[in-house]
Amino acid sequence: MEPVPYFAFRDYPAGSEAAVQEALLQAVAGKAYILGKELRTFEEAYANYLGATAAVGVGNGYDALVLALKAVGVGGGDEVVLPVHTFIATLNAVLQVGAKPVLVEPDGQTYNITAVTAAPAITSKTKALLPVHLYGQVCEMAPLLELAQAHNLKVVEDAAQAHGATYINQHAGTFGAAAAFSFYPTKNLGALGDAGAVVTSDDAVADFVRMYRNYGEVQKYQSEVVGVNSRLDELQAAVLQVKLQHLDQLNAERQRLAAIYDSELEGTGDIILPYTAPGCSHVYHIFSIRTKRRDALRQWLREQGIYTAIHYPVPVHLQPAYKFLGYRTGDFPVAEELAQTSLSLPLFPGLRAVEQERVVGAVKHFFR
Ligand SMILES: *Cc1c(COP(=O)(O)O)cnc(C)c1O
Repeated sequence: MEPVPYFAFRDYPAGSEAAVQEALLQAVAGKAYILGKELRTFEEAYANYLGATAAVGVGNGYDALVLALKAVGVGGGDEVVLPVHTFIATLNAVLQVGAKPVLVEPDGQTYNITAVTAAPAITSKTKALLPVHLYGQVCEMAPLLELAQAHNLKVVEDAAQAHGATYINQHAGTFGAAAAFSFYPTKNLGALGDAGAVVTSDDAVADFVRMYRNYGEVQKYQSEVVGVNSRLDELQAAVLQVKLQHLDQLNAERQRLAAIYDSELEGTGDIILPYTAPGCSHVYHIFSIRTKRRDALRQWLREQGIYTAIHYPVPVHLQPAYKFLGYRTGDFPVAEELAQTSLSLPLFPGLRAVEQERVVGAVKHFFR
């Protein structure tokens, strides 16, 4: 039997692969490969889609985080409050701008930080809150924004897993002073290589990022700040224009597949299914379940030819690279338990019904 991959690139919706190839050929024929019309068109379309005034394309999601933090004024001596349960890029970006990361626990149900978990970490040095819309579910933003306002903090969203997700009818990436998106190929909106964007409705933030991504230039050979080279190239922008047209459909397909897992796996063994908070929407970048028998279940699925993933097997505070931050085992019991019990099942647009049935059948069989 063919293995069931954890993720695969499939032609979904049918014909989109050909449309992407067509757009690429046109961009090649356009012969303007950096900071040209394809990028401007995509930036405008993505900002419009989200309901923000600007999207500024950069080289990847990590750079988007770094530039967003810099653009809102986070730097040396500042503290930034962010989740311990996230991908390493979020933490690296804070360190990259010279700020001190202050990690906080996720909520035990949504796995996102909340005003309740973030509040105790705020000090007189806190400059920004950096919520991550993890797995594709938007954080409960109203209380987080209130908390930020009460302490005069900037909010920078890590929306790298939440393209198109909403909280009370507003898109992820439009709540804070700035937001970072990644268009890494496997993300809900993915390029055919590295790409990212900073999204904002603050003109000063957008102008800063436009300058900073291109050697600090305001015009050719006139640099106002010491910038970097982090540009989203024309070929990726052309691909993203096509993919953006399908984003809602791609997310709807992810939600349909998630609903099948939910109804099929409810009550199976000790499985805890993803929980979506009221007002939040979930676009299932990752479909993560929990079970105390995670490692055995993963092994069993592997033997049935079913591939899974773990997000994330080692919490960031226990990674060897970050020992110098001084955290220890036991500091974040919720995140540490998630690292031991979480298992991500195959879920991607184009996953076939027979494949999903095999996953469901194998999981049920394991717990029988
Ligand atoms: C993917 C991701 C990033 C980084 O994006 P890259 O484009 O790979 O640099 C940052 N934060 C989160 C939560 C992510 O999932």
